[in-house]
Amino acid sequence: MVEKQRALAYVGEMNAPALKPSERVRKPDWIRVKAPTSPGYAETRKLMRDLSLNTVCEEAACPNIGECWTKKHATVMILGDTCTRACAFCNVKTGMPRPVDPLEPEHVALAAAKMGLTHIVITSVDRDDLPDGGASQFVKVIQALRRETPSTTIEILTPDFRNKPESAVAAIVDARPDVYNHNLETVPRLYPTIRPGARYYASLRLLEQVKRRDPSIFTKSGIMLGLGEERMEVHQVMDDMRSADIDFMTMGQYLQPTPKHAKVIDFVTPQAFDAYAQIARAKGFLQVASSPLTRSSYHAGDDFERMRAAREAQLARAAAG
Ligand code: SF4
Repeated sequence: MVEKQRALAYVGEMNAPALKPSERVRKPDWIRVKAPTSPGYAETRKLMRDLSLNTVCEEAACPNIGECWTKKHATVMILGDTCTRACAFCNVKTGMPRPVDPLEPEHVALAAAKMGLTHIVITSVDRDDLPDGGASQFVKVIQALRRETPSTTIEILTPDFRNKPESAVAAIVDARPDVYNHNLETVPRLYPTIRPGARYYASLRLLEQVKRRDPSIFTKSGIMLGLGEERMEVHQVMDDMRSADIDFMTMGQYLQPTPKHAKVIDFVTPQAFDAYAQIARAKGFLQVASSPLTRSSYHAGDDFERMRAAREAQLARAAAG
């Protein structure tokens, strides 16, 4: 713990002292968010219910739901509401999922069209029970979106497809989402306790496979901070992500969804998140999002535009010699 305090003091070197022990369990002010009450929030909720769609915003008890849904940004969770894994940080229920809904791709496309989305984020539960891990449903959703709302840019946030044939991921890549996201979630040392069903290097390899198969697709990955990771471990994850040619890194504060889930070890200060962002940018990511309330899909549309502009500027510089 002393090591951790030292690391936080170093990372948050811009006048951000490490938190006192008494501040470690209570949610700090920078985490508090307003209760969702706006008409936009109610409309988004109704649309999702009418189309029988699940959202990770609700299932993961995301703190940004009031802000995002008011702006009609929601992250649709396909392949049901029941996950075949039981990660220690995740609030989505675990069990034997129901059969895949054949109407889901059309419903997702309809929701995107009705909400007038310029950018949509699609994620899913893990479906280790399906031979392709649910990859073909991702493909159908992408195809339905391209058909119904062709100007919407598509970001997918997928499971790791561990122990599934390589062709599962290849099929998704060939459907050409604009952004392929898969979260590493935490540093490798914490995988056995936080993400026991997954393997750090398998997740990295997945993102590398995506980039190798289609370099035009932006790749994205993120980790949660506050689970007991050390500063140098976070830097190592950044280096690993860059060596897999990942374009966009996100970092956000882990929040314990219920007392049964993994405990918060530290509330990382906003200044420390800024310092991590500076380091990540120096390591060459096209885009970095790092703040206590950052989630993979938070401000995803705006960040996508910034990332696209950054790539264009990079290509222009390269062309100019
Ligand atoms: S940050 Fe993502 S998961 Fe959270 S409410 Fe916004 S869109 Fe939903």
